[in-house]
Amino acid sequence: MHVDRIGVHESVRAVCPPEALAEHLRDLGADATVVGDDVSAVDAVAAFGHADAFLGLEWVHCVRAGYDEFPLDAYRESGTALTNSSGIHGAAVGETALGVMLSLARRLHTARDAQAEREWAQPAWDESFTLTDERLTVVGLGAVGRGLARRADGIGMRVDGVRRTPTPTPHTREIYTPDRLHDAVADARFVALAVPLTDDTAGMVDRSVFEAMRDDAYLVNVARGGVVETDALVAALDAGDIAGAGLDVFEREPLPEDSPLWEYEDVVVTPHSGALKRDYYRDVAALVRQNALHAAADEELVNRVV
Ligand code: NAD
Repeated sequence: MHVDRIGVHESVRAVCPPEALAEHLRDLGADATVVGDDVSAVDAVAAFGHADAFLGLEWVHCVRAGYDEFPLDAYRESGTALTNSSGIHGAAVGETALGVMLSLARRLHTARDAQAEREWAQPAWDESFTLTDERLTVVGLGAVGRGLARRADGIGMRVDGVRRTPTPTPHTREIYTPDRLHDAVADARFVALAVPLTDDTAGMVDRSVFEAMRDDAYLVNVARGGVVETDALVAALDAGDIAGAGLDVFEREPLPEDSPLWEYEDVVVTPHSGALKRDYYRDVAALVRQNALHAAADEELVNRVV
């Protein structure tokens, strides 16, 4: 693979200034410039989303972990390699997921709501709880799932996991395979989703899963909105089948103004900001540079999707 010049596509602005990523890539020794949809002067691009102009390049690097919006068949047909940014989100998304769980347990979100009204409103005596000793089931134990499991274990939660290969995983006790999802969620106070959106995981959290969950349980979705059936989630919240949710991702983003999910006191909505952090560009640059060196040495690319 011949990769001399790397373009940092404007779409990267969704997560960091493209200029910062290009500059850091240059610091690491790569020939990088910011590009728009005219990619004729580069061999490869780092991009947030797909553009048809990319097809035919040597290599496209997606600056996100989730590549579900990329047309994989078109990449295969055009011979353009696609890589993603899995592996760099464990800390940020792990902290976001743990943060929303802490908020729900310690009632920080209701305090902030009351603050906006200048109201001194203590929670009822039986409303607050601690995460210590509560059970968390993490569905998907890649970089994000493990990042959360490690942090939750660190504050004394009991962490179980769902993964396709039921082998022991650090910071988790019991591991369930996806066909035992109902068993895996049945005793959990929190169920956190950290799987990619694929044909297998689309709508995997449906009505039957909410029915299997405890009625004092919370769903935390930091994966992709499509992993959860939104109508079933709303119905479960209305019926009291679950207590609430922390949602960073949605089937439609931005979450439409008329979505009922804005309304619930115990649903904390964050605007797909779980992975954002000020030095995001550094982590992406390290991955891109590593793969540029692999390309130059004709070695297999890391995080290769296509
Ligand atoms: P990853 O590739 O490191 O891990 C994904 C894990 O899910 C893998 O271990 C895989 O084997 C497992 N998996 C796949 N299908 C499964 C199934 N049916 N049941 C159980 N496990 C299954 O990716 P990651 O970096 O951990 O990210 C995971 C997903 O989280 C991404 O694909 C993305 O959609 C989402 N994400 C969201 C944000 C955010 O801002 N909220 C940030 C990063 C990632």
